[in-house]
Amino acid sequence: MRPSLYIHIPFCIRKCEYCDFYSGVATEQDIDAYLDALEREFELRFSDRIAPATVFIGGGTPTRLSAKQLARLGELLHARVDLSDCREFTCEINPGTLTPDKADALVAMGVDRASFGVQSFKTKYLGGLGRAYEAGTATAAVEMARSAGIRRISMDLIFALPGQTLQELREDIDQALSHGTEHLSFYALTYEDDTPLTRQLLNGELQPCPEELEREMFTLVGDTCAAADLQRYEVSNFARPGAECRHNLVYWTLGDWHGLGSGAHGMIGGEITAVAADYKVYTRMIGEGTLPFSRREKLADISRAETLLLMGLRLTRGVELARFEQWAGASFATLCGEKASALERQGLIEISPTHVRATPDGLMVLDSLILELASSLETTV
Ligand code: SF4
Repeated sequence: MRPSLYIHIPFCIRKCEYCDFYSGVATEQDIDAYLDALEREFELRFSDRIAPATVFIGGGTPTRLSAKQLARLGELLHARVDLSDCREFTCEINPGTLTPDKADALVAMGVDRASFGVQSFKTKYLGGLGRAYEAGTATAAVEMARSAGIRRISMDLIFALPGQTLQELREDIDQALSHGTEHLSFYALTYEDDTPLTRQLLNGELQPCPEELEREMFTLVGDTCAAADLQRYEVSNFARPGAECRHNLVYWTLGDWHGLGSGAHGMIGGEITAVAADYKVYTRMIGEGTLPFSRREKLADISRAETLLLMGLRLTRGVELARFEQWAGASFATLCGEKASALERQGLIEISPTHVRATPDGLMVLDSLILELASSLETTV
């Protein structure tokens, strides 16, 4: 399988209240300089054009770029990337930033899949999250993307919002489904360190969603999507048959991908790369002809097996045991047998001759389940 390609655009209109991703506010000149640096990064890293299996442009907010800047990004990509055999080209879109010109620029770039960060269809929750648009904007943006010719539409939504009811979540799911969306992602709100939202929580200014209600919401999302023929294929992701995100499947199965741009991560043949998460440092170093990697490390095979377990158990099809064994140097049963049997008895995982997978109950406690299994490998690492 040819490596995929991820490009990070670390710019946003403003910072959302819950966000701890690497992104920031920048001037037009900063963005122009960033695109120059991105072009140079391609030249420094690849002597020839690359032909990725899939491409994903994420952020940040890629559509924070102007239509002209997106067209420039498209030109530099076409010069350095052979897209003739690309199986999927996704761009993340913040609904409040899309215009018809930008949608046209994305199509000219080769984008065939739009991933909309909708988060909620209700203005009162969008305001609480600090999202820079109102309810209704997402609907218009999806229509704009479709009119420009982007057929594949995905939406991200957040649940377990402070004060959110089951009925309100049901309405959000129904509204997302009403767009004929082929792919939906649902994430429970998390309170990351040092975000404005977490400070509000710590100051007692908001009440988190009760755990029991969050579990009911998780179940509601799965049941409602399944009834609409969108099957859960990853703990937070649902798709019509054949509409799974091919790019993200590369991450979850620990395939190979190049990560370019400030803050991007990549993995080729077990070597992890991370590009400096500071676009000014990135632009300056690239200008000096230096690749600004903040991490470049070849994973030991057993760490690769552990990472495969960590990522692959998120998938409902689970982890391929032969692939695990190839890196772990011993079978899953040998390395994790005791812990795995206990988890199997609790109904949290299932082990077949070819795969280990989390059950629906297991998916609800996935983090602790993964920690439990990974601890079996600790002594080996
Ligand atoms: S748009 Fe996305 S990346 Fe930007 S601040 Fe909001 S959540 Fe973070």
